[in-house]
Amino acid sequence: MEHPTSKLFSLKIRVTMFGVSKFQPRGGADSRTFEYKFKIRCNSCNTVSEDTIAVSLGEKKVCKCKNRTCCAQGNITLEPGHGREVSENDNMKFVPLMRFRCMGFYPQEFEFGDDWAATLKDREDEMNFQENLWHFENGSVLLKHNGDAASVYNLDSVFECIEKRISMI
Ligand SMILES: [Zn+2]
Repeated sequence: MEHPTSKLFSLKIRVTMFGVSKFQPRGGADSRTFEYKFKIRCNSCNTVSEDTIAVSLGEKKVCKCKNRTCCAQGNITLEPGHGREVSENDNMKFVPLMRFRCMGFYPQEFEFGDDWAATLKDREDEMNFQENLWHFENGSVLLKHNGDAASVYNLDSVFECIEKRISMI
């Protein structure tokens, strides 16, 4: 039997912003309350989960393959300290957000969700998406505030495998 391997993945996001100077998970990339949601692909049989899983910082997420002839198990943990917010200078660039230590499963199809915050240009304070009437439409996030329109759109993400190692001998 093949030894289980763990791989390190970096989640990078790319967005286009209008009227926004900063965009990040509410509380920052390393927020302990932000849930990273994505699908997982089994390392053994390549089955992709139908549902997304949610992992938070400090949690060891146990993953089980839904393929009944496989039933592989693994886990995913977050490695903080490598991500940052998207700033207005990052338009059209992929920005690292979080790293994932993955055992037996690969992450894919990151789901942004709505637990995000943005700082509008010419303002100091952060606007919480959930509390400030942001509208999620067709992959865009729109805000109308005091007559100013701001938006974050073309939400895109990628999981890059940045390291492979044998973790058990
Ligand atoms: Zn499997």
